[in-house]
Amino acid sequence: MPFPIEFDKCPDCHSKDTVCRLACADDPSIPKGVFVSLEKLFTPIQDINKITTPTVKGILTHFDICAKCGTRYCTKAEITSAPVTIQHRSGSLIKGLSAPR
Ligand SMILES: [Zn+2]
Repeated sequence: MPFPIEFDKCPDCHSKDTVCRLACADDPSIPKGVFVSLEKLFTPIQDINKITTPTVKGILTHFDICAKCGTRYCTKAEITSAPVTIQHRSGSLIKGLSAPR
């Protein structure tokens, strides 16, 4: 299945309304049609200690809560990249991630 994978309905009650979509629906700072989600989880699919690029490829999964029955479900999964941050801590390099927004 090609990315992004979208789940536009609640798996339990098939409602399309989510808590985040309802909350953002009337906010003038968020343009209509923009994808919004309550939680985002970034999972790298590359070993950050083995890559030399400043970004790491990964899967960004979005989660939201059904406004009708309260089920938390994945609304979207997409491939994206996140910047790798390098910290110096007592002489050693520590690679970390800053999740995309
Ligand atoms: Zn539901």
